[in-house]
Amino acid sequence: MSIAERRATRAVRAGTVTIGGGKPVVVQGMAKAPAWDGPAVLAQVERMAARGCELCRLAVPDERSLEAFAWVAKRSPLPLVADIHFQHRLALGAIAAGAAKLRINPGNIGGPEALAEVAREAIAAAVPIRVGVNLGSLEADLASSLGHTAAAMAESALRQVRVLEQLGVEGIVVSAKASDVPRTLDAYREISGRTEWPLHLGVTEAGPGLAGAVKGTLGIGLLLAQGIGDTIRVSLTGEPECEIDVAYDILAGLGLRRRGPELIACPTCGRCSFDVAGAARTVAGYLAGMHDPLVVAVMGCAVNGPGEARRADVGLAGAAGGRAVLFSGGRIVRTVSSEEAVPELIKEIERLRQGGISEVSDR
Ligand code: SF4
Repeated sequence: MSIAERRATRAVRAGTVTIGGGKPVVVQGMAKAPAWDGPAVLAQVERMAARGCELCRLAVPDERSLEAFAWVAKRSPLPLVADIHFQHRLALGAIAAGAAKLRINPGNIGGPEALAEVAREAIAAAVPIRVGVNLGSLEADLASSLGHTAAAMAESALRQVRVLEQLGVEGIVVSAKASDVPRTLDAYREISGRTEWPLHLGVTEAGPGLAGAVKGTLGIGLLLAQGIGDTIRVSLTGEPECEIDVAYDILAGLGLRRRGPELIACPTCGRCSFDVAGAARTVAGYLAGMHDPLVVAVMGCAVNGPGEARRADVGLAGAAGGRAVLFSGGRIVRTVSSEEAVPELIKEIERLRQGGISEVSDR
């Protein structure tokens, strides 16, 4: 099975976004500002939207946060997911305020009657529900009978799905997140074989920085590579827009989705004929925030350089005498000095952009 082949799932609509049903994997984010601070939350939502976030989760822990949620929902550029625990009235309020999706745990929302009321309102408003199982909050009976295992997480998720199905909920998304990769993988694989509802992938509490990004990439990427997963959220301790960047890097790395330019740069070695690391940093900064589907290569020598630079839309390949060959559209443009390399590359990119770039390079 190739990576591009996705496991068949039902399509679930959340506002303007469709999750599953063969649609591209949806990138989700989560606001981290205090839930009661509407303007701060909205600013984060807008920053995530600018980076390509498609669906954004907001915590709604109390009445004050619900007011903020309603305020943000009126202004948000993205459909919003209301994350609610313990108080079913908050879930009802979030639906009324325009939530595109709810994330609840049917086991802690206030009992069967409260859950039935939430389900009724969600059905009436065509708001789907994500069953979000987290290893840290497993039901006590499953934790004691199966332990804190992937099997217990899968059982918890499927049990909650059955409850919602019995209540007639027509849009369900399932997640089962642990803070370690092996249990996350096993839980999702088990769930994937036992339900047709779309799956929301993530490794929870993955931590900060590079280590968190690697953990999230492994958990999400390995599942996506098996055709499992319809929407993803990378969990990082840090600015919310970084989660969006990593999510797109995972999707681009697997060839599932691309947003904006791709920079191919060699790792550098003793053969480099110019400052490739510095050039790559400058070019990466220049490309940041650009939306054109452009492939740019910065390569240090004549070994792999010409091949990569030729395949890219625009590229540099190191040449003898501290010089670099500039390629564009698969052809050599000219040989430039190391000082000219980056400015000439950028000039060539600008020239291409003015002419319009509509397709990803596939030379
Ligand atoms: S492209 Fe050339 S300079 Fe860059 S790492 Fe490979 S061999 Fe070294």
